[in-house]
Amino acid sequence: MVEKDSANQLTQELFTYSQGLGADLVGVADAADFHETEPAKRPLTHMPDARTVFVFVCRIPFGAATAHAGPPYLQSGYYGLEGYINKISHRCSVWLEDRGYLAAGSPAGRDITGLRVMERGDDPKIELLSSFDLRLAAVKAGIGQIGVNNNLITSKYGSRLRIGAVITNAPLVPNTALEYGVVPEFCKKCGFRCVKACPAKALTGEGAVDHYRCMVINPAKVETRKALKTLESRYSGSPNQLASKMMGFTQNAPHTCARCITLCPMDSSREDRKALLGI
Ligand code: SF4
Ligand code: SF4
Repeated sequence: MVEKDSANQLTQELFTYSQGLGADLVGVADAADFHETEPAKRPLTHMPDARTVFVFVCRIPFGAATAHAGPPYLQSGYYGLEGYINKISHRCSVWLEDRGYLAAGSPAGRDITGLRVMERGDDPKIELLSSFDLRLAAVKAGIGQIGVNNNLITSKYGSRLRIGAVITNAPLVPNTALEYGVVPEFCKKCGFRCVKACPAKALTGEGAVDHYRCMVINPAKVETRKALKTLESRYSGSPNQLASKMMGFTQNAPHTCARCITLCPMDSSREDRKALLGI
């Protein structure tokens, strides 16, 4: 009982500490419950005695969340926000370390460790590799579900957010995991708005995204072979070399489409939420 009480207290204190630093939503996932993702992206691969993953999200300001990413979105939704999240992860890691635990933050964004080409030709299929599954971590921590736009959706901010995570051997108290790998009811109610609005036709309607299409945004307007070659060269190198290059933040041109994130009616700040979802 004493052990349970102290785990509860540690968890609550970490929540309060991270919220003071700017985390908007917080939760804890069980480190052993990541079987839906490939082994390379599981917490236990990075820290064999990990017990939990502390997960948090920071929202993108509503005023900066425009469908076509401009400078305010790049600052408040991409590079600036990701740097801010990495800082929160760092502070929470050393906070846990000061209490006797091992803890390490995962990259908030630009976590691309490789690119796999599955199909070439006129409609190529690629897969982007990464070191950790942040979205699954957020679902396991009870923060939200994966929508048809392939992003984390929370009932408060929709997808207008970025995720941070700290893997630790601290005995934090896990939240109840939400459903994963299913199309959420709210997407069915919304009528697949993101799928219809995607300029690249990259969203399948079942939660998957065609990464090649999403990355080039206008597949009909680019020369396929050339675009694929550019992507392959951008994301080549050993996983660690590539990860450190990505973390330089400005090595690559930013992705400028944000439609599927900013039009989602699950964002409670959107005036059309009630009309589409009845909530
Ligand atoms: S826009 Fe609609 S279908 Fe797409 S993720 Fe949001 S709720 Fe789901
Ligand atoms: S970011 Fe743009 S191109 Fe990519 S899936 Fe979303 S709407 Fe489509």
